[in-house]
Amino acid sequence: MSASPTRRLPIPTPPAAWETITSYLRRLAKVNHTTVRDLEAAINASPDKHSYRQTRTLSLDKLSALTGHSAHQLRRALLELQHPEPQWWLLQAFPRPACPPCARRHRGGPVHRYYPHHVTACVKHNLWLGTRAPAATAWPVTDNAIDIQHLPEITSAQVRHRRLVRRHGQVAVLIATRAAFESWEYIHGRNLGHAQSTRLDVLRPGALQYHEEDPAFHAANYPEIVSAASVFVRHQWQAQVTGQATRVHAYAEFGNCLDWSMPRDTWQPGRRSTLTDWIDIYARPHPTNGHGFASAGITITGPRPAWTVQ
Ligand SMILES: [Zn+2]
Repeated sequence: MSASPTRRLPIPTPPAAWETITSYLRRLAKVNHTTVRDLEAAINASPDKHSYRQTRTLSLDKLSALTGHSAHQLRRALLELQHPEPQWWLLQAFPRPACPPCARRHRGGPVHRYYPHHVTACVKHNLWLGTRAPAATAWPVTDNAIDIQHLPEITSAQVRHRRLVRRHGQVAVLIATRAAFESWEYIHGRNLGHAQSTRLDVLRPGALQYHEEDPAFHAANYPEIVSAASVFVRHQWQAQVTGQATRVHAYAEFGNCLDWSMPRDTWQPGRRSTLTDWIDIYARPHPTNGHGFASAGITITGPRPAWTVQ
């Protein structure tokens, strides 16, 4: 190990909010006309990982000396350096490219960053950023961010989704969105309703078939998912679903948001089904233990951090 002081880079561009360290090093290397490998050597980074399960280490003091940004500033922006660790399960499973117009002021190429589950679109630039619900793994929007300006219902759903989080908290909305998402999948499978087909024609004009991990496919039924989640998260609805006399009405209200008239409909008033059992499980109180839900049967996986401090 070299004892020589780390020399500061000529252009110490700052990290973007919640940027991945890998993304930051790539941008730093580019603007300073050097290589990521040289930067890794300067911050005592452990060898490049061979699998996604392996976490790499770096020296925070050396990264600070290299960039001129204090350890406090770097920790605030780079979640992987935070101590105590962030609640990873409250973030989307994969880091995603930031909205290109929003990230334009950050030099050195695209910014990849972590997002909470409820941030799915940039409402300022009308761009769909990724995935519609927890555990959904749409491909990252890499080459061309998906333009949703002609589908204002998707932007409105994003505004509503963020409002729900402000009102009910991240965990309650996470459970509600997950319940809505899984119910949608159960009811519709790979089929599309009329409204979703129309939206996909706008988002992917001319496409003859869709992949279920295409982010446009996720965007197409996002308004219905948020609509159902906004029913699910209401205390009054949750009280109804636990009451013997009011349960049927509550199921119907939730299902109607998800277009419960499709051929795969397995629910009939007054009868139990896998779907109603499922709704009941999600509607139960779910204590959290800091790493996820304490209740059995529901797991929410967040990203696997790639770096840590030495
Ligand atoms: Zn933006």
